[in-house]
Amino acid sequence: MGPGPSNIYPEVAMALQRPLLGHLDPDFLEILDQTCERLRTVFGTDSAATLPLSGTGSAGMEAAFVNFVGPGDAVVVGVNGLFGERMCDVAGRCGAEVVRVEAEWGQPLDIDRVLSAHPAPKLVAAVHAETSTGVRNDIAGLAAGKGEALLLADCVTSLGGIEVRLDEWGVDIAYAGTQKCLGVPPGLAPFTASPRAMERRVEHPQSWYLDLGMLAAYTGPTSGPAARRYHHTAPVTMIMALHAGLGAVLDEGLEVAIDRHRKCGAALQEGLTKLGFELFAADGHRLPELTTVTWPEHLLPAGLDEAGVRRRLLHEYGIEIGGGVGEWAGRMWRIGCMGHTARPRNVTMLLGALADILGR
Ligand SMILES: *Cc1c(COP(=O)(O)O)cnc(C)c1O
Repeated sequence: MGPGPSNIYPEVAMALQRPLLGHLDPDFLEILDQTCERLRTVFGTDSAATLPLSGTGSAGMEAAFVNFVGPGDAVVVGVNGLFGERMCDVAGRCGAEVVRVEAEWGQPLDIDRVLSAHPAPKLVAAVHAETSTGVRNDIAGLAAGKGEALLLADCVTSLGGIEVRLDEWGVDIAYAGTQKCLGVPPGLAPFTASPRAMERRVEHPQSWYLDLGMLAAYTGPTSGPAARRYHHTAPVTMIMALHAGLGAVLDEGLEVAIDRHRKCGAALQEGLTKLGFELFAADGHRLPELTTVTWPEHLLPAGLDEAGVRRRLLHEYGIEIGGGVGEWAGRMWRIGCMGHTARPRNVTMLLGALADILGR
């Protein structure tokens, strides 16, 4: 069986085959500038400090904390999955006083509890789309009630897949990843910070590489007093790929792409329910791009465990789905339908393959 559905947009595959430009080539700098502009459009922000960081989504998370949180700063983190947990780890390493507000896996965060967890936090952080549970958290609600605090949102699995409107909502800091709904290989972290956040940066971040002051100067204008200053060698090929992926999304229309994710997710969730699976994420808070399911024991064929079913999907049908993580390992599936893979034909193919394997 050949490779199965890939979430890489065809325009991205083409960009990856273009001749390599030098990192100082004016043609590349033009592409870098356009990439920052396209990121502003998909994030829904006018912020000047919007750029692709050279690193995966977790580098975005690290930059989001290390530039805004110093020793003793109070940080409230909403935790209802693996990535909220990771935020606590990162904030703790910055020396923050971390106040965790937990919700059960599969449930959304309680916005009022998060907002009232500390009288005057420097920063409130939450994951928009929890990839470990398939739950959407209400970032707009958190932003509306943030008061003096800075609001930080992890948009790794939301950007390009569900609505993200940072300026309209009042989000100060956000990061994403390229390999989820943007349909680009892993390797960059789209990042943005509002002017309000940029004024409240820590003076000497405990990271040289992720220091936003230097990074913002690097993606600054080509000439003038604030002209671009070398910081590190940009991963040229990946930026060309992101440029193409954002181009594909914007050519299709951001709203149209989001609607495509919504329809595919709805069809997938309906089909899985008909096959006998149980949707894990709370109703009304389910992500279309990442569906989580559990199953009654009798659903799996005798002699085949859940990992066996996933192996057959991969080897016989070329379809890869994710297993559960944390305490849900072996008891849950996480099915991504995002980026270029969010197509009705892929939903039909997966449901058909599962019906075959399960003998239904
Ligand atoms: C994937 C993911 C990350 C981490 O991104 P990497 O590219 O793996 O470093 C962070 N947050 C969320 C919500 C994710 O889904």
